[in-house]
Amino acid sequence: MSKFLSKKYQGLQAYVPGEQPKERKYVKLNTNESPFQPSKKAQELAKEQLQKCMLYSDPDCKELCSLLAKKLGVGTENVIVGNGSDEILNFAFMAYCGGETPAVFPDITYGFYKVFADLHGAKKTELPLREDFTVNLEDYKQAKGTVFLANPNAPTGLALSVAEVEELLAADSGRIVVIDEAYVDFGWESCVPLIQKYGNLLVSQTFSKSRSLAGARLGVGIASREIIEDLNRIKYSTNPYNVNRMTAAAGVGSLLDTEYFEACRNKIIANREWTAEQLKALGFTMTESQGNFLFVRHEKIGGQELYLKLKEKGILVRHFAQERICEYNRITVGSPKEMETLVKALKEIVCER
Ligand code: PMP
Repeated sequence: MSKFLSKKYQGLQAYVPGEQPKERKYVKLNTNESPFQPSKKAQELAKEQLQKCMLYSDPDCKELCSLLAKKLGVGTENVIVGNGSDEILNFAFMAYCGGETPAVFPDITYGFYKVFADLHGAKKTELPLREDFTVNLEDYKQAKGTVFLANPNAPTGLALSVAEVEELLAADSGRIVVIDEAYVDFGWESCVPLIQKYGNLLVSQTFSKSRSLAGARLGVGIASREIIEDLNRIKYSTNPYNVNRMTAAAGVGSLLDTEYFEACRNKIIANREWTAEQLKALGFTMTESQGNFLFVRHEKIGGQELYLKLKEKGILVRHFAQERICEYNRITVGSPKEMETLVKALKEIVCER
């Protein structure tokens, strides 16, 4: 840290992304990426844009936003795109937290919420999940502040129903609820239709997981016209060209290629179920994950130990040091071949016991 850094950032603990190792080729099951390439259409359209890079991108991403709005069944005024859903979430923390308004989120959830709250000097109300990692809705109904819920949650994969989210929205129309749907495409129901009825709802989604575009960075915010105006005010005060030409085009291509999208996500869902069964047979227990990952533990092997043993065997998974979940590992659902390699390695580790 230099002596010049503003005081307000001196205590900031930055987010630590999952490892992206270069020293060795791993079976990479640690950052919930897709094992499949982006759709051919997405690749094609992105490539075309390379030649036009001397020109700025469309700050409104009109083509992408109108296609998105059509797919989601909302108006274009209800949509904003960003540099990953992380950027949309950052805008939301900036817009709706701080001063008298704390950020409210579970003790076990996406680690970036805490960082965004600190970055913007907002107070944090971290509400503990129940013993089984489910959300106690009553806690949230009563809490004051802007609520952030990943649904399905990460790293647990557990989700609230749309009816439960609606209950939360209706409980206090005077505060914003942000539903982070990064993993919604792997079999869960979206809260997007609720934006028509609830002016206090913001939904974020991403192209990083189910649409295989993590490296392109494309996220979406869906909400009332007024909320989208708020977020645009922040976007146009920081970086109007937040989505580059190639990424916007890749997004369009991906949305046009519905068949490929459906095939990829169905493969992940089927593979998740297959892997879960294999792991249960080896004595692992896990949550009922609705995401593209499993959250697992084994009675006889510590979480950190399992992480290290898998790493030795060339498989990277995500281990969290946080006390309540340190006996668990989060394993991304990769390709069938990757999952076979994982199951084989876990069999060996379990048999050593
Ligand atoms: N929300 C959750 C719950 C996530 O796990 C992630 C991925 N790390 C994100 C949001 C952000 O994803 P992206 O910025 O790639 O859209």
